[in-house]
Amino acid sequence: MHTSGTWLTFDVPDDWEKSELTDAMTAAAYAIQSLVPLFIKCDRTDIHVVPQVKAIHMERPTFFIYDSYPGGIGLSENIYPRWRELLTLAADHVAECLCEHGCPVCIGAQEAGQKDNKHRAHSLLAELAK
Ligand SMILES: [Zn+2]
Repeated sequence: MHTSGTWLTFDVPDDWEKSELTDAMTAAAYAIQSLVPLFIKCDRTDIHVVPQVKAIHMERPTFFIYDSYPGGIGLSENIYPRWRELLTLAADHVAECLCEHGCPVCIGAQEAGQKDNKHRAHSLLAELAK
C-alpha cells in the first residue's frame, strides 16, 4: 500500500540481544500507537506503528508510523516534529501503569516468558526520548 508516514531509526542499544529488542520494540510500538491519538486528532486504528529490528533501507532498528489509508491522509506526518514528546509520554505511560509485567493498557497482552518486557520497553522508550 502506498501511504504517507514518518519513521524513527536508531542504533541497537549496547548490551541488547536481537531477540530482546524485537520484543521490546513490539511492546514499545503498542504503547506509541495507544498515545498517538493524544497528539493528532485520530483514532488509534487510523495509524499503524510498525517496529522493524533491521529495516531494509536503513539497516538499523526503526519504528514506522504511517496512515492506515491508501495515499495517506496527512496524519502521521504530524508526528514527525513531535517524536521526542511522543516517546517521553509513552515511556511515562508504561512506567506508570499499575500492572507488573505488561497489560493491554500499556504494552499489550504479554505471553508467558516475557516478564522483563515491560521493563525493557520502558528503557527503550526512555533511551530514545533522550
Ligand atoms: Zn500495564
